[in-house]
Amino acid sequence: MKTLRLILSDQLNSQHSWFQRPVSDVVYGFMEMPPETNTVKHHVQKLLATFAAMRALATQLRQAGHSVEYMAIDAPHNQHQLDKNLVWLMNKHQATRLGYMLPDNYQLDTQLQTFCEHHSVEAEVADTEHFYTTRLALQQFFQGKKQLVMEPFYRHMRRKHQILLDEDSKPVGGQWNFDQENRKKWRGEVAIPSLLRLQNNCSDIKKALDRANIPYIGTVDARAVQWPITRAQALRTLQHFLATSLAHFGTYQDAMTTQSWHLFHSHLSFALNVKLIAPQEVVDTTITYWHKHQATVTIAQVEGFVRQIVGWREFMRGVYWAYMPDYATENYFGHTHPLPQYYWTGDTKMRCMQHAITQSLSQAYAHHIQRLMVTGNFALLAGIHPDAVDAWYLGIYIDALQWVEITNTRGMSQFADGGIVATKPYVSGANYIHKMSDYCSGCYYDRKQRHGERACPFNSLYWHFFMRHRDLLQHNQRVSLVYRLIEKMPSAEQKAIVKQAAHYLANLDKL
Ligand code: FAD
Ligand code: SF4
Repeated sequence: MKTLRLILSDQLNSQHSWFQRPVSDVVYGFMEMPPETNTVKHHVQKLLATFAAMRALATQLRQAGHSVEYMAIDAPHNQHQLDKNLVWLMNKHQATRLGYMLPDNYQLDTQLQTFCEHHSVEAEVADTEHFYTTRLALQQFFQGKKQLVMEPFYRHMRRKHQILLDEDSKPVGGQWNFDQENRKKWRGEVAIPSLLRLQNNCSDIKKALDRANIPYIGTVDARAVQWPITRAQALRTLQHFLATSLAHFGTYQDAMTTQSWHLFHSHLSFALNVKLIAPQEVVDTTITYWHKHQATVTIAQVEGFVRQIVGWREFMRGVYWAYMPDYATENYFGHTHPLPQYYWTGDTKMRCMQHAITQSLSQAYAHHIQRLMVTGNFALLAGIHPDAVDAWYLGIYIDALQWVEITNTRGMSQFADGGIVATKPYVSGANYIHKMSDYCSGCYYDRKQRHGERACPFNSLYWHFFMRHRDLLQHNQRVSLVYRLIEKMPSAEQKAIVKQAAHYLANLDKL
């Protein structure tokens, strides 16, 4: 009985127990297709890095004596549809059993189960051996609770996995959370390190993409793709981050600047999400590094980094599996606007948006606060349909896979889930953006004005957002101050804000 073991494009874990030794009646199948969905245009860097990483693993497996069948994106028999490709692969190898690792994508999970039932194929399902948690761990942890809050889950994870605890099982440094010490504006006081140079030559893959007429967005130098495509490169990226950036990670975690697109971030999300590297080893290696470098790296920096991986990343995974498939259609505010055209070009007078979008198109990357408090903030204030917002985030970022994209976008950023992920909508006017960045100086708009010809659009849209969604938000304790401030505002001021916001909403594409 022959088994075809399918390796999805985000399951490139070379350490998986499947690969311990070659098995004579097993063939591994890879198929290059746009990640997860054909309906979204992906960034060209994401397509290249994904396929390059798949090819590298396939080569590694062949060299280790495994039998591998690889479908390149432009192979004549690649029909760019999972089911059809599986039938082709199984027929070619006369396989009667299909092995697959639990997909992280809800639709793929259902599709593979259905495929096995319809084709009367025996399924061999394995764990991906990647995450700290199982799919349902978060749901079990919060059973009976009304709201899912990340903090208790994160502390539970720290205790369960003995992460940054002292001998008395208390948090190292005396606190679970060092946010108060972190999150400063970057004013040039510390030099931003350069990124590790990887320069993977993906020219052949780029030619194959074009031959197969795969549409994409963004730009790339295909001869020098900077994302890690092997485990060895992912480990080097981690070491480079530890040596150059960890010491300032937490401090400048939320800072934004026109002088650098990466600041002190790790750039590990792609390597993590396609499973070149495991979250446990990132966390363990970071803590070991910190133990040896306590003179230069404080606990606040380390805790800030560990929280993202042990806390937020696993939390989002749990939310996804607890709420899909309904989550994908949530639209709490009933927003309907299409996405303004400048999300695809960066051609806007709003300097913050111009910078974050242009950078996303050229690097396939923006860090968390750019995604949350610039592009996401604006989309929510402008009332863009969450489907359009999701499609943009899913396409443009190197690390975007639905389980972690949709929970961050529809949930944390757009509050379209009505408060499952976030306890309040993450919106702000120009004040916050100015506090954390150098975007506002030199902007066409005036950050201090709420109305008037050059008033910053974020300002009037911010107040208007709360005014128009009063019914849905006024009982939320976390935003009660906003409503008190609106009540104190003279009615002429309120009217001027509403008029300004209405003008901007009617002219969104021209801002
Ligand atoms: P660092 O800042 O160095 O953080 C280290 C690691 O922590 C990241 O590599 C990532 O694995 C993890 N992490 C940090 N924040 C989060 C988070 N909120 N959720 C899950 N993991 C987190 N992250 C994705 O991996 N894929 C996405 O599609 C994605 N979409 C997002 C959409 C929006 C609207 C927002 C606000 C955030 C999104 N994020 C997403 C989370 C975060 O922005 C990225 O993980 C981070 O910017 C990746 O860059 P980095 O590796 O340099 O991260
Ligand atoms: Fe963005 Fe407004 Fe600041 Fe301009 S003034 S950079 S639009 S926040």
